Amino acid sequence: MADTILVVAEQRESKLNRVSFETIAAAQSISRETGWGVEVVLTGSGIASLAQELAQKSVARVYVLEAASLAAYTSDAYVFALKQFIQQKQPKLVLFPHTYQVRDFAPRLALALDRALVSDTIGYKYENGKLLFTRQMFQGKFAADVSFAGDAPWLATIQIGAFRGDQAVAGTAPVEHVAAAETTPRVTPHEVFQEAKQAVDLSQAEVIVAVGRGIKEQKNLALAEELAKTLGGEVAASRPICDNGWLPLERQIGSSGQTVAPKLYFALGISGAIQHIVGMKGSRTIVAVNKDPEAPIFEIADVGVVGNLFEIVPALTEEIKKTKA
Ligand code: FAD
Repeated sequence: MADTILVVAEQRESKLNRVSFETIAAAQSISRETGWGVEVVLTGSGIASLAQELAQKSVARVYVLEAASLAAYTSDAYVFALKQFIQQKQPKLVLFPHTYQVRDFAPRLALALDRALVSDTIGYKYENGKLLFTRQMFQGKFAADVSFAGDAPWLATIQIGAFRGDQAVAGTAPVEHVAAAETTPRVTPHEVFQEAKQAVDLSQAEVIVAVGRGIKEQKNLALAEELAKTLGGEVAASRPICDNGWLPLERQIGSSGQTVAPKLYFALGISGAIQHIVGMKGSRTIVAVNKDPEAPIFEIADVGVVGNLFEIVPALTEEIKKTKA
């Protein structure tokens, strides 16, 4: 059997998580070096139409692994179905996007398969026939190359933003439906409760306007909110802003917050500490506004504006509004 990379794509409530395409891009990149084929599996119930979207990528096959017990997410049902599927297909490598859902079930799946899992990887190396994955250590201060102990299939999760979803090569793949083994999960998922419904998933935002201590006071957040609203984006922050309770924790970017990779990331009055950078450096375009020309954020910014954010941000928002008028 030819060696393959199996990408476990993610859907939730019948909506495809677009970070699945980042994982496909990672798999395609590894495939170019190793020669291993790429296949995708999507798990759930009544999800055939979502598979069509995945099939528009250059992969050998998209499997739709369906069972009634997979309709609502539970780690029990996912581990049960995927374990059997992986044992049957015997891929060399199984890749997942490093989402909350994957964090919940992938370690259990690895244990059920008795195989190694390397989590939250930011890159890979293929050297002398050996596949290594790179992970950040000590809050992003160091990066380490990690190899798998034991036999394939090997499992790895890919950090959000480490690869670009729009660089997944397009193609046409056949879709194959597979009836997954049914199981009775030990937990019964109830309706997603209100708090989570309101919670913002910044990993899905295309534009993020993030503020740091340079914003000075809570009432000044209105400046960032106005810019975000004008661009159809979301507001986020560095840790001190969330520690102050000025924004909820779910909007914190960084090693102890969210990892994001929007198309456009504004860093307003953020110095660029490593713990912040690790959460946003995968953003496509980074615009930093800081009054200190030596601020480390400028080292990774695509556009750097040295100046007072209280002058620059309102003027920028007005200019953008004019272009829209
Ligand atoms: P500061 O470093 O104080 O920077 C403020 C910036 O605003 C300065 O560069 C200043 O020049 C600029 N400024 C001031 N006034 C203006 C103005 N009028 N106009 C323009 N610019 C102005 N941090 C995170 O963000 N996310 C994390 O997840 C995170 N996790 C952490 C985990 C651990 C274990 C530890 C130890 C720390 C963590 N931190 C995290 C904290 C991190 O080390 C920094 O302290 C924090 O990111 C600094 O936030 P800041 O850039 O908003 O503030």
